[in-house]
This record gives sequence, C-alpha cells and structure tokens, in this order.
Amino acid sequence: MNFPEHFASRRAAEQQRELSGTVAATRFGRLAYPYEREGNLFARLRFGLDEHDRVRLEGELRGEIAAVCQRCLKPMIQEVCAPFGMLILNEIPRGTEAATEEEYLVAEQDSLDLMRLLEDELLLALPMVPRHADGTCQTAAPEESASTRANPFQALAALKERRKGSGKAS
Ligand SMILES: [Zn+2]
Repeated sequence: MNFPEHFASRRAAEQQRELSGTVAATRFGRLAYPYEREGNLFARLRFGLDEHDRVRLEGELRGEIAAVCQRCLKPMIQEVCAPFGMLILNEIPRGTEAATEEEYLVAEQDSLDLMRLLEDELLLALPMVPRHADGTCQTAAPEESASTRANPFQALAALKERRKGSGKAS
C-alpha cells in the first residue's frame, strides 16, 4: 500500500489500526550520499491509546538501502532494522505533562505526516559511516583473500615466502 502523506492518528488509535506496506527509497528525499535512493523498505505501524488516553505509535522499518562503503568506496547494501515507539501529541507538552520521558512527536490538528516520520526513523537508524562487514571490502587482491578463507596456513606460508623474497618485513 501507499502510505498517506497525512494521517488522522487519533482515529486510528481509537480503532487500534495497523498499517503496513512497502516504501520505495525513492520517496525519501533527504536520503543522500553515502546512501542512495535505491532499495525498498517494509514499514509496519500500530496505533493505540495509552493509559492516559494519549495516542501511542509503535512501529518498525526494515529493509535494505544501497550505499557506498566508506572504506573501499564500492557499492554495498545497508540493512535497516529500526523499531520505534512514540507518543503522538497535538501540542508540545507543558507543565507536569512535560515530565513525560517518552519520545513524542507533535502532529498539529492530528495530521500526522507519515512519510516524514518514516524518513526521520530511517535517517536515525542508518549508520553515519556505512561500511562492508570487516574483512569483506573489495580492496585486497581477490585471489589472496580467497585463499585466506580457504586455507589460512597456506596463506601464511605464502606471506612468509614473499617477505623473504622482498628482504624486509611489512
Ligand atoms: Zn567496503
């Protein structure tokens, strides 16, 4: 489904509604280098009321986003798994209410900008510096890294040979 741009969250909370669907990364205008607007995310949102009759949203965003590894500068896929939860308030809490320790979002006139919310959660969840998992960058000669995985002793022997050959270590 397409998430609506604006959403009446209180009514959804009273009905305990759940929304889920896929969002293409192309819809996230603030997604920028080292990330690319390529990939799909699956979002699930659950609205309900808390014990103080406030709108509470629980959700999760997961999927994959294309990125450029900041170690080898080659393309990579950044996995996203971002659970989130917050209150949706009509105005900024004041006085004793302000003591709430829960995260909240203000949606004026109960008009919640769902895409903005999802984009915020995505940007918060993405690492500042995306990188391939350790040891999986493409910078090393491919044959050498393949043999390291296949037989570490053989690779070590080859390394010793090379050091002997060049006459100095490292
Ligand atoms: Zn890399």
